[in-house]
Amino acid sequence: MVECKYCNQDIDADGHDVPEYLDHLGECHPHDVGRIDEQRLRIQWEGDLDEARSVSYRWSALTISVAAASAFFVFGLAVVVLFG
Ligand SMILES: [Zn+2]
Repeated sequence: MVECKYCNQDIDADGHDVPEYLDHLGECHPHDVGRIDEQRLRIQWEGDLDEARSVSYRWSALTISVAAASAFFVFGLAVVVLFG
């Protein structure tokens, strides 16, 4: 059992360079990893690291648009309530 360097979660792995730990990094911290972990991840995931990153980039772009849309909606509603 090792502790994740990025979220302090306990990972069922024998060290910081074993596949179990690297899988966790690739799934949960594709943008957070430092240079050394990124090297290990590239070996472990090969091209999938870029894929994992682009997926979570798309995901955050979607989250931001939804948040902006709801903020805009709430603002519009407030204007109607106050001035309508
Ligand atoms: Zn973690």
